[in-house]
Amino acid sequence: MIPVNTPLLDGNERAYLLECVDSGWISSEGPFVGRFEQAFAAAVGRKHGIACANGSGALDIAVAAAGIGPGDEVIMPTFTIISPAASVVRAGATPVLVDSDPDSWNMDVAQIEARITPRTKAILVVHLYGLPVEMDPLLDIARRHGLQVIEDAAEMHGQTYRDRPCGSFGELSTFSFYPNKHVTCGEGGMVLTDDDTIAEDCRRLRNLCFQPGRRFVHEQLGWNYRMTNMQAAIGLAQLENLDAHIQRKREMGAAYQAALRDLSGIQLPLAQTDYAESIYWVFGIVLTAARQIDATEIMRQLADRGIGTRPFFWPVHEQPVFRKQGLFADESYPVAERIARRGFYIPSGLGLTATDISEVTSALKHCLATPS
Ligand SMILES: *Cc1c(COP(=O)(O)O)cnc(C)c1O
Repeated sequence: MIPVNTPLLDGNERAYLLECVDSGWISSEGPFVGRFEQAFAAAVGRKHGIACANGSGALDIAVAAAGIGPGDEVIMPTFTIISPAASVVRAGATPVLVDSDPDSWNMDVAQIEARITPRTKAILVVHLYGLPVEMDPLLDIARRHGLQVIEDAAEMHGQTYRDRPCGSFGELSTFSFYPNKHVTCGEGGMVLTDDDTIAEDCRRLRNLCFQPGRRFVHEQLGWNYRMTNMQAAIGLAQLENLDAHIQRKREMGAAYQAALRDLSGIQLPLAQTDYAESIYWVFGIVLTAARQIDATEIMRQLADRGIGTRPFFWPVHEQPVFRKQGLFADESYPVAERIARRGFYIPSGLGLTATDISEVTSALKHCLATPS
């Protein structure tokens, strides 16, 4: 079986983790947390990093720290993992959705302006699958309309948009360190900001909003989203190898592109645009109209041949949990609906070997050669 993801832990992970155990510092009070926060913020060119338990929690903190609440609208892509939409809905605000660009699969920036209302408070950018969102026009819209930008850069470690780091564009930007990200802690997340007051708010929100003077008296509700020293130890070691991880992902992407280029009936991910070169968070494939089967069928066939896959994200406006709340009734976003049904990704982890890649591509060729 070739799993859809295998992490690569071949740097200082073991040494740093042993330091935690040997020193007894395993909690969030340990020294690796601050070291990881500083190193990660510096790598993205930000003033403050606030490490937390996971990327979804980082989004909860960012949305709360942005002051988003009942009555507010937040413009975001419908094609995304649920986390950013969940954070907005839990805050009592309303996600206002835009469809995807059919080539990059990222949010179609040209659709944003028509969705702005007097209630719009922020644009929540989610960069997907290895390529950033087209940021310059988006930032221009935000500036002209006085909107905050929150950036979910969970899939963008080490990626740049026109040579500026992803994670540097939002008043608040977030990352995840889930095992399939280019930097992992097992579980983990980070909020980045340049604003001293916002950073303080984020630290308080991460830590149950304990107060400095009267610890157990609370003016506001927060979460326990603290990161442990052990997570930070792994994260710091991973960060030291980020350049190598990016290079490896790009090599994997190039190998898949070369092997799959001539297959008909599939759309491959863009290798580059005029603003970025893909870092292949994962290698996604979308079946074209020429194929009758949908992604679940080909994923089943690949599983029979020992190849792990995952479907694409399911659109926010089609999520049963939101429909049951009366959200997004009668809304339709045809690109997102199509790629959600026709898209899947193949094994793309940092631990993938050249042999794995050729096994995956020959299995894919076999499945796609079968008439459908
Ligand atoms: C992985 C991911 C998240 C969630 O991160 P977790 O650490 O798994 O909570 C959020 N947004 C995007 C775009 C992601 O890819």
